[in-house]
Amino acid sequence: MSVDSKKPILVIGLGRFGQSVARSLDRMGHEVLGVDSNAECVQLMAETLTQCLEADATDKGVLERLGVGDFEAAVVGIGTDIEASVLTTLALADLGVPQIWAKAVNENHGRILERIGATSVVFPEARMGERVAHILSGKMIDYIEFDDDFAIAKMVAPKDAVGQTLGQSRIRSMTGITVVGVKRPTKDFEYAQEHTQVELGDLLIVSGTRENVEKFVAGES
Ligand code: ADP
Repeated sequence: MSVDSKKPILVIGLGRFGQSVARSLDRMGHEVLGVDSNAECVQLMAETLTQCLEADATDKGVLERLGVGDFEAAVVGIGTDIEASVLTTLALADLGVPQIWAKAVNENHGRILERIGATSVVFPEARMGERVAHILSGKMIDYIEFDDDFAIAKMVAPKDAVGQTLGQSRIRSMTGITVVGVKRPTKDFEYAQEHTQVELGDLLIVSGTRENVEKFVAGES
């Protein structure tokens, strides 16, 4: 799901998450209207964003006056105050905003947000926690997990694969893992092909189910 680059986007709650979303959208050329009930947050972002307003977003009348019904997409970055997050999301849904992205701090919060009209719920802290744990556990250099149990990891090429082409090492048929690309030190990233030779020190970008990726990286598959 994406938005037309010319349509303005509403970001409510300019805490750490909301600020980061708003700054990135601004960098990508979107017009962003930022809203926060805290004057300091508004002041901090006022120079960066197209428009930044101090308002209580739980008040549907206030949102209506801001014309939020005309926005194609809104991001609710309020998390700590779950009541405010829920009321804001509900007001946006009532006002007919087609895409509502809302941040959840836990699973129950996420379920409520979905039920009341959020079209996408994100769990930034839980996701980052998973990522850090996978990287900390040692063998992954980076790790991203998607919905539906699918993951992508960056790892040092396993010893068994070194000195062979990807076709010869039969990684996919033996482990269920697809090697997406290979990065050799000092060389550009290369998309993986049957004839791609793996050398000592290469980094592999691998993808598959979370379980398969974890096993492969741990050398258990
Ligand atoms: P983070 O962890 O990303 O900093 P927080 O939930 O702590 O997220 O912060 C969310 C932001 O939402 C804060 O800047 C806070 O002032 C703002 N906020 C909280 N309640 C409302 C509200 N009713 N209307 C608008 N902004 C709000």
